[in-house]
Amino acid sequence: MAYGWNKKVLKVNLTIGNISTKSISEEVLKNYLGGRGINIKALYDTTNKNTDPLGPDSPLIFGTGSLTGTIVPSSGRHNITARSPLTGILGDSNSGGFWGAELKQAGYDQIIITGKAERPVYLKIINEKVEICNAEHLWGKNVWETEKLIKEELEDNDVQIASIGQAGENLVKISGIMNNLSRAAGRTGMGAVMGSKKLKAVVVRGNKGIGVYDLKRFSESVEEMIKNIYSSPYYEARSSYGTTMLVELNNRLGNLPFRNSQGSYYKDAEKISGELLYDKHVTKLKACFSCPVHCSRYYKVKSGPFAGTQGEGPEYETLVSFGSRCDNNNLESILYINNLCNQYGLDTISTGGVISFAMECYEKGLIKKENANDLDLSWGNYQSIIDLVEKISIHEQIAQIGKEIPQKLLQNLGSILAEGVKKATQYIPNSGHYALEIKGLEVAAQGVRGIKAMGLGWAVSSRGADHLRAFPIAESLWSEKDAEEIFGTKDAANRFAYKGKAKLVKWTEEFSAITDCLEMCKIVAMPLKLSMSSFAEITSALTGIKFSEQDLFTIGERIVNLERIYNLKMGLTYKEDRIPDRYRLEPVPEGNSKGETLDLDKMLPEYYQLRGWNEKGIPSRNKLDELGLSKNILE
Ligand code: SF4
Repeated sequence: MAYGWNKKVLKVNLTIGNISTKSISEEVLKNYLGGRGINIKALYDTTNKNTDPLGPDSPLIFGTGSLTGTIVPSSGRHNITARSPLTGILGDSNSGGFWGAELKQAGYDQIIITGKAERPVYLKIINEKVEICNAEHLWGKNVWETEKLIKEELEDNDVQIASIGQAGENLVKISGIMNNLSRAAGRTGMGAVMGSKKLKAVVVRGNKGIGVYDLKRFSESVEEMIKNIYSSPYYEARSSYGTTMLVELNNRLGNLPFRNSQGSYYKDAEKISGELLYDKHVTKLKACFSCPVHCSRYYKVKSGPFAGTQGEGPEYETLVSFGSRCDNNNLESILYINNLCNQYGLDTISTGGVISFAMECYEKGLIKKENANDLDLSWGNYQSIIDLVEKISIHEQIAQIGKEIPQKLLQNLGSILAEGVKKATQYIPNSGHYALEIKGLEVAAQGVRGIKAMGLGWAVSSRGADHLRAFPIAESLWSEKDAEEIFGTKDAANRFAYKGKAKLVKWTEEFSAITDCLEMCKIVAMPLKLSMSSFAEITSALTGIKFSEQDLFTIGERIVNLERIYNLKMGLTYKEDRIPDRYRLEPVPEGNSKGETLDLDKMLPEYYQLRGWNEKGIPSRNKLDELGLSKNILE
């Protein structure tokens, strides 16, 4: 009997229509745990620098965690991994909801999909029965229509569906894979990889259960964890407002991006706040699989021009991406745009990022109305944001970089932005300074000049600029005493200080890698301060394999290092561990981070040293030996 894991991978080749299973060894599971860990292992083993992310050989990998589908709080998540068509390095994205738990219950830890179907298809998995089904009637439909049609077709309302909208079909590089209508594996363009395979959806139904090695010990440790969650001082706010509580909080700290991060303070933050959303439009709270925090929310707009708009969310990142980043204080328009992105299957962070970039280019005279689909891209013009979201989704492939005729190419502004902000600078002369990206991925919604560890976390993140790889919120939330104990200096809890931040980022990167392998939600694990020792206890009781707290940190370190080597193998250099000039050179103009810039040089060398990487960011032979990765040594 398998405990915790199913020890089984489902392999599908869409070119030849082949479906098979293979076992996944206990050694791999012990070393990589699940989810993000087993996915990078599979990606590393099956791709190289010549792998075209949108070609048939490019694997699209869905991974569940060692705890996915169990009663452990917030453990219903999954990771989706491929070489990113947006960045060319690691593509990896994590989603909540119910899909991951269903796949685990169907008997699989991972699905690896290669090839390209001749015509649109969807994959149907009902326990052992796996079929490739015709999806020609679904191609061109949005995510919500697709879910509805598949459920009707299968006469099963409880089937779980991960699908792409038109954005993924049209190979938009900032498209994601959606499940449960509004949960997104949004980052790094995984939707385009799925679209390139002509795969519309992966549909799952499972009822096989998951074996538990020591039920008594497992139940007791889960109960203890639930008790800790309910008694956290942050529980109430998290469970009412979710991540949207951060809008006003970050604004008070002077960390809320305003007008493409020209500023970090928004005078109208109250108008797009989580508290206002809750009071005006939230109808019901919503939980992902096995989650007592239920941080998500259903909303319905009852009056005004957006009356009738109803959906789930939005998260903090979405409110800010289409709110303060675009100087748009119309909350209802953001709810409408949130729905549009969920229906088309777009990453809201990157989409808001490319649109605020376009708005700044318009402000600076680099884009004119007549060259931009006739859109008035003035700050706050939410109708233009709506139009642009639609134009991005209906991506007409751009044939060549328009060196000679950039203004003519700008007629297809939606298509240009669909390629991501880094590529967009090739079509819009002199726009590089306004393109806020790292390693090709659009930055998330933090004002990193006033939170130094977050800035370092963005710069070294293995999937490009992102807040969740490290998620170093200790610098704003933890006490000086805790910071001193864990990171060796109380300065680690001072958001303006540089001291202690390298150690903090290393620690949180490894902690976050583990939550992504167990597939527990970071929103629960990090802010509610769940401990690595509790994860070790639960995982040991579930699987029957003894894991200590240190074992898990070592697994986290192994994953961070393997992702690093993967990226180096794909052509990344240490020069890409950087921060956009805006954060480096332009001091914050107003608010409680006024005058701050971000100097990476004060943290990066120490970070490399703590990681056991040389001055060019390459892991040393000793470090790789220590982590059992020696065969991956890069000279
Ligand atoms: S905390 Fe929120 S996002 Fe995370 S698993 Fe629970 S309901 Fe889902």
